[in-house]
Amino acid sequence: MSRSTEICTKPLKSKIRRTVLKAGGTLLISVLAPMSARAAQIVAVRVWPAEDYTRVTLENDAELKTSHFLVQNPDRMVVDIEGIELNPTLKELVAKIQPNDPYIKQVRVGQNRPNVVRLVFDLKEEVKPQVFTLPPVGNYQHRLVFDLYPVNPPDPIAAMIEKGEWPSGSTVDPAPQVAQAQPPQPQAQPPKPQPQIPQPQPEQPQIARIDPKPDRTPTPGLTRMITIALDPGHGGEDPGATGRGGNREKDVVLSIAKRLKAKIEQQPNMRVMLTRDADFFVPLGVRVQKARKVQADLFVSIHADAFVTPTARGSSVFALSEKGATSTAARWMANKENSADLIGGINIKSHDKQLASVLLDLSTTAQINDSMKLGSAVLSEIGGINKLHKGAVEQAGFAVLKAPDIPSILIETAFISNPEEEAKLTDNAYQDQMADAVLKGIKKYFSHNPPLARNRLT
Ligand SMILES: [Zn+2]
Repeated sequence: MSRSTEICTKPLKSKIRRTVLKAGGTLLISVLAPMSARAAQIVAVRVWPAEDYTRVTLENDAELKTSHFLVQNPDRMVVDIEGIELNPTLKELVAKIQPNDPYIKQVRVGQNRPNVVRLVFDLKEEVKPQVFTLPPVGNYQHRLVFDLYPVNPPDPIAAMIEKGEWPSGSTVDPAPQVAQAQPPQPQAQPPKPQPQIPQPQPEQPQIARIDPKPDRTPTPGLTRMITIALDPGHGGEDPGATGRGGNREKDVVLSIAKRLKAKIEQQPNMRVMLTRDADFFVPLGVRVQKARKVQADLFVSIHADAFVTPTARGSSVFALSEKGATSTAARWMANKENSADLIGGINIKSHDKQLASVLLDLSTTAQINDSMKLGSAVLSEIGGINKLHKGAVEQAGFAVLKAPDIPSILIETAFISNPEEEAKLTDNAYQDQMADAVLKGIKKYFSHNPPLARNRLT
């Protein structure tokens, strides 16, 4: 199929439309006139290329109807959008495809027939597209989203080994740095004893490695690689909070996470996986899924706080809660962070939602107890570099902390809505201090809670 015929094929529905027009006569014409005057307008186009998937978003002032199909040899995706005319904003899409986009070679845009615009995505490889619409939310109007996933996604560990980012830990270290025996020190905030409630057995037993009562006896002479999952919040369509100076949460937390990653990589027995290393959106359930895929020992989600009044300040650390939030503020915070999927945009028809509900049912008391210990260790270190918003780890139902088998915390590094703290968050020295404090907290946690031995040394 040539370029021009692909963009401008014969109209499929014109016959039907003509029939309707004949039947309706003059009355229909008077109804149609104001409708065409109100044809939907594309108000913005955005492209978020990433190894995970490339997303193209068309933001519109009305919901759009589309159909799409894939063509092979060469691979391309053809999309017809009804109810719009080609406008300069939509034409900008052509220039927004970067040469280094992993999946899209180029896009062609044309008026296929009156009222129908056709997009042809020329692809670099075969993709599994998800095409869906999102209702207006936050600052966004209606969105039409194309997520192009690779048909054969790369194995995350294989990809990191290839980049030299995944040291193997199959050695026995005579002087383990992390698992060394130390007298237990009093915890800054001892976790409240919680009644041991028998955990319901999962209906779908595909999730392995759930140990509700971990045996904390370290194996003598054995050390293994400790895997830390770092989760820079938000990304892509979801900017997170924005400071008065225009700095976005998604950017500062990625920067802090990258610094922390570099510091963790300098530790002899630690390795690190970032849930995102670029500016694209990762659904909350997928962040958890990624951590479980690499069998992370810890999950640390990094955020920046915001409040309506610019005076609110300080850092805080959160863990999951089994029974309600520890404060109204913590509940509010969890609701705000959990809305990331709405802003970032997920296809609710995809299977991720089902996965999230499975994880939710498996949350364990043991995970929360460990998360509280980790949170206290990290919070006390952060208290050395910034004012604390609250002196204890708070708890609420954060979706991203729901890996049932991985101690998980969420750090609000500072208030981006406070001009003074916004300046700190964009400051290299503060970002570095924050990364140092979190690493110190992580090491302190492991010195008291050595990682469990595993059957498989990876
Ligand atoms: Zn956040």
